[in-house]
Amino acid sequence: PGTADRRTGARSDLKTPSGTAMTLFVVATPIGNLEDLTERAARTLREVDLVLAEDTRHARTLLTRAGATTPTRSYHDHSTDHERDTIIAALAAGQRVALISDAGTPCIADPGFKLVRLARQRGVDVCPIPGASALTAFLSAAGLPTDRFLFDGFLPQKAAARDKRLTELLAAPWTSVVYESPRRLEETLAAINTAAPDRHLVVARELTKVHETFYTGTAAVIANAITDAQGWRGEIVVGISPAPERDASDDELDAWIAALVAEGVSARSIASVLQSRLGVPRKRAYERALAALEQRDGEA
Ligand code: SAM
Repeated sequence: PGTADRRTGARSDLKTPSGTAMTLFVVATPIGNLEDLTERAARTLREVDLVLAEDTRHARTLLTRAGATTPTRSYHDHSTDHERDTIIAALAAGQRVALISDAGTPCIADPGFKLVRLARQRGVDVCPIPGASALTAFLSAAGLPTDRFLFDGFLPQKAAARDKRLTELLAAPWTSVVYESPRRLEETLAAINTAAPDRHLVVARELTKVHETFYTGTAAVIANAITDAQGWRGEIVVGISPAPERDASDDELDAWIAALVAEGVSARSIASVLQSRLGVPRKRAYERALAALEQRDGEA
C-alpha cells in the first residue's frame, strides 16, 4: 500500500521540525520569463540547503532572482546511481534539497524521474512546487481539445522513426503535443503535410518570451506563414488536433471485429481499438462488437 502525505491547505513545508521529515522539493522554474517564478518557488530555493540543477551556472541567475545564495550541485540525465544515493544520504542527514531543471517543470522532458522514484522508494517525501511548463502553457492557449491529450516528448530525430511516430499521433482520436527542435521543424511540417495535409495544427514558439508566436492551420499554411528566418529559431511546441472521425464501411468494421473477437478481445476493448485505428465513433464500434459477440454466443 502507498503512503499518504498528510499535508493540506496552506503549507509551511520547510518549517517541519528537523528530523521528522525528509523532503525533496521538485521546483518548477520559468520557461523564459523570469516573472513566472512563483513566490513559493523563490522561497523554497532560498530556504533549502542544496539546489540540484542541470546547469549550475544557469541556476545561479535564477537563484539570484530569487534572492537565494543556496549552494548548487549538478544533477542531470547522466547522473549515476551512486550520485542519487549520495543525494538520498544528504536528505537522510537532514539536508533540505530542491531539484530544478534548466527551464519549466523537472521530469517533463527533463531530468528528475529516476531521483524522484528513488526518493519515494527510500521513504523521502517528494513535494511538487508547481509552476511553468511549456506543455501546459501551450495547451492553455492553443485552442486544441484538452479533455484528452498525449504528450510525446521530443519526436525521434531519424526520419523513418519520426514518420512512424507521426503516423501513430495522426491516427489518435486525442490531441497530441510534442516538443520540437527549431532545426527540424521545417522537415517535420513537411512530413505531416505528406501524411495528413488537411490536419489542423498549432505551433507555438518562444512561449512567455518577447517573440511568443502561435501559428495555426495545416502544416503547409504554417510553413508558409513562417516567412522570416527568425520564425525557424527559438523553442518550439507542436500540437496536432485529434484525427477526425471517419465513416468506415460496415464491411470494414465487421472484418476487424471478427478478427478481434477470434482473439478473445472484449467489446469494450474492440471499441477502443477501432476508435484509434479507424477513427470510427466508439459507440458505433462498441454496438457492432456487442452484436458480433452475441451472435457468436448464440451460435455456440
Ligand atoms: N521541462 C520543460 C517544461 O516543463 O516545459 C521542458 C524541457 S525540454 C528539455 C525543452 C523543450 O521544451 C524545448 O526544446 C521546447 O520544445 C520546449 N520549450 C521550453 N520552453 C519553451 C518556450 N518558452 N516556448 C516554447 N517551447 C518551449
